[in-house]
Amino acid sequence: MFKEFSGKSVFGGIAIGKICIYRKQDNLVKRQKIDDPEVEIARFDKAREDAKEQLQKLHDKALTEVGEANAMVFEVHQMMLDDLDYVESVQNIIRTQQVNAEFATATTGDNFSEMFASMDDDYMRERAADVKDISNRVVAILSGNEGGGFNATEPSILLAEDLAPSETVQLDKSMVLSFVTHLGSTNSHTAILARTMNIPALIGIDFPEDADGHMGIVDGFEGKFFIDPSDELLAEYQAKLDKQLEKQRLLQELKGKENVTLDGTKVNLYANIGSVKDVADVLKNDAGGIGLFRSEFLYLESSTYPTEEEQFKAYKTVAENMAGKKVIIRTLDIGADKQVDYFDLGKEDNPALGYRAIRICLDRIDIFKTQLRALYRASYYGKISIMFPMIISVDEVKKIKEIVAEVKKELDEQKIPYGEVETGIMIETPAAVWMSEELAKEVDFFSIGTNDLTQYTLAIDRQNPKLDAINDTHHPAILKSIETTIKNGHKGGAWVGICGELGADPTLTETFLRMGVDELSVSPSRILAVRDVIRKLDLSK
Ligand code: PEP
Ligand code: MG
Repeated sequence: MFKEFSGKSVFGGIAIGKICIYRKQDNLVKRQKIDDPEVEIARFDKAREDAKEQLQKLHDKALTEVGEANAMVFEVHQMMLDDLDYVESVQNIIRTQQVNAEFATATTGDNFSEMFASMDDDYMRERAADVKDISNRVVAILSGNEGGGFNATEPSILLAEDLAPSETVQLDKSMVLSFVTHLGSTNSHTAILARTMNIPALIGIDFPEDADGHMGIVDGFEGKFFIDPSDELLAEYQAKLDKQLEKQRLLQELKGKENVTLDGTKVNLYANIGSVKDVADVLKNDAGGIGLFRSEFLYLESSTYPTEEEQFKAYKTVAENMAGKKVIIRTLDIGADKQVDYFDLGKEDNPALGYRAIRICLDRIDIFKTQLRALYRASYYGKISIMFPMIISVDEVKKIKEIVAEVKKELDEQKIPYGEVETGIMIETPAAVWMSEELAKEVDFFSIGTNDLTQYTLAIDRQNPKLDAINDTHHPAILKSIETTIKNGHKGGAWVGICGELGADPTLTETFLRMGVDELSVSPSRILAVRDVIRKLDLSK
């Protein structure tokens, strides 16, 4: 059925592979109060039996197709579903908290998985993923959501109507060659994820449902997508793909080199990450530090509030792996497009202008303090800086500083050590740009969030694909805002970086360096390409 589609590219590159359609799945488990625990326990038992039956079938199939050693895992999963501790934990949660079976199963899965993950024994540690897997299977059966999600068995081109951040966090990224969506916009988080993963991504592709399993080509340079291409077209694109790989190989030669222009101007080049796992890409691409760790993904990945201990471990791991290099962690930035069910944020008419980011933290101080405690504790193990999103006033920063002081005092009283921590704010609202001179006196650094700054300056919803055509990221108002922020930051003694997507735009690198920017923080996959641009610039001319 050869078919050709045109859409909009959100990240360049070529991908060739099998197509796998992502089907919506309501994976977020809601906590619901129930009247009769015995009814929920009976539902759980029935789902458990069904899950064991599914696993038996998978076992038999695997036995004939891939042999006994590979089929074993399904036997282990069946046994785990009968484990008394596991079953009793689910029953206890249902009885004591009077909650639905889905929530009790997901919570038990999280708790057991964490317990296994912290064990010394390698074998037990590996069981962490298994217990999560069986819990997901039971939850899917309970909520009637089987068969959804992304079920690729080989690296594939993912096609979806749209993808929310809460969905992308659950994907097995090693199976994704490219993202192709019908909806979504240039600055959506799927686009950011594609850049992080260095894979092509297209939006605006109205694909046919029966494309599943067919061969596809994604051309992220031209915004094209092909289903069942001819042999000639395949050969043409295979040659382009080889060229792309060669270019990436050449960039590898820039590893270990400085980010310095021909006339000697140096700039820090850091990486943006969304999870602990991304640190491998940061190191692989030789970033000088982490300029933005979007900590909200820890909350998005979890079915309930991540504890101080869980957060501490994540931040400590990142800090330790970066071995003394700077790690800037942004405090919780949820709301707007990043919805987390258990926060119960409610529906808003204008979520991007609503209850989000620092506004939630300054309202729900318990959540904020838990995160700050985890961050400060982790700072003892590396070079952590903290930054706060969506700031609009000096007052907010003063309130934050009071809360930070309280957290540090508590840690002192408990004799819990912490390191020297730089604090900064994101400049991503026009109000913050206008107040940048005053704000600079309160903090150590600014990081310009051009994604939101563009949205709020141009009054263009970054999630609305209809506005992509007028979403001019090079608009003079944006460039003037950046220039003003850098100038005022320096006047007030703060260093200034850019961590929004514009920071990786090679056509603006020279402009930013001439403005005097101190740091650019980009997706790990963009580090070497930006370094290449910097090293060819001569600012003395
Ligand atoms: C930004 O707004 O530019 C930014 C870096 O943050 P996020 O994209 O996570 O909103
Ligand atoms: Mg932002």
